[in-house]
Amino acid sequence: MPISFEFFPPKTDEQRATLDAALPRLKAREPEYVSCTFGAGGSTLRYTPETIRRLREQHALDAAPHLSCMGGTREEIRALLEDYRACGVRRLVALRGDLPSGMASHGDFRYASELVEFIRAEHGDRFHVEVACYPEVHPQSDDAHADLRHFKAKVDAGADGAITQYFYNADAYFRFVEAARGAGIEIPIVPGIMPIANFTQLKRFSDLCGAEIPRWMAKRIQAYGDDVDAIREFAADVVADLCRRLVAGGAPGLHFYTLNRARPTLAVLDRL
Ligand SMILES: Cc1cc2nc3c(=O)[nH]c(=O)nc-3n(C[C@H](O)[C@H](O)[C@H](O)COP(=O)(O)OP(=O)(O)OC[C@H]3O[C@@H](n4cnc5c(N)ncnc54)[C@H](O)[C@@H]3O)c2cc1C
Repeated sequence: MPISFEFFPPKTDEQRATLDAALPRLKAREPEYVSCTFGAGGSTLRYTPETIRRLREQHALDAAPHLSCMGGTREEIRALLEDYRACGVRRLVALRGDLPSGMASHGDFRYASELVEFIRAEHGDRFHVEVACYPEVHPQSDDAHADLRHFKAKVDAGADGAITQYFYNADAYFRFVEAARGAGIEIPIVPGIMPIANFTQLKRFSDLCGAEIPRWMAKRIQAYGDDVDAIREFAADVVADLCRRLVAGGAPGLHFYTLNRARPTLAVLDRL
């Protein structure tokens, strides 16, 4: 089963040390590739390319940059693509991103489909392009049909594969893949898996990105109170069970949101 790991670009020495400590342990699991996020509006304009270079050159990992177009200009994106091409990158994750608060301009691109079109127009088939998709529906799209049409637009623009937003309900994924196939989308749809490290943080983040934490899960975790070990065990069991169901049901791979830490992801992988 191909697996991949997602990181965010460290900005401080402390964050760099955390990632450096996690990398050898995660690399030992032989990921197909790793990816590094990009802050929309250029907030990681320097850090994402720097991290990609470090992952490729110092850690010998096939590292794929995320590229978020929201708030960016054609020239900025063009320069990043040239830079990535020059350092041997062959895979990209193309996103719209979310406008950072306080930033007014949307930039030259409105949707990720326009970014995919731009990448194909500028670089043909040079890059393998992944896009995002949402089994529980993107939060700004209250209509699942419209969201699926917009996903299809990214595929028609040239996406080779998709990674989902995380979810904890396997049926949401299976139904989504079924609907996508029905809409003529044939690219691989890899589930994004969020191991649980910090439940309070996860809850806050899930509200923002539209991922649902099932009530039974939240209630069980709350019931453990301050028993951190019990929460870790329970969370790893639940996420490993989700992964098992996804793989048994035909998921073509698993993409782990590591948040730059090895332990929560390894706790899941060790159970598989
Ligand atoms: C795997 C993964 C990785 C991510 N990595 C990052 C990252 O590195 N950096 C970051 O900032 N964010 C990242 N995100 C978050 C993502 O940027 C947000 O979810 C963002 O709100 C949407 O991005 P998108 O690429 O899915 O946008 P889009 O596909 O453009 O969709 C955004 C919204 O617009 C709607 N829409 C699309 N096209 C149209 C149209 N033509 N007309 C009307 N509505 C339309 C869609 O239905 C959706 O509601 C990631 C998400 C995932 C799932």
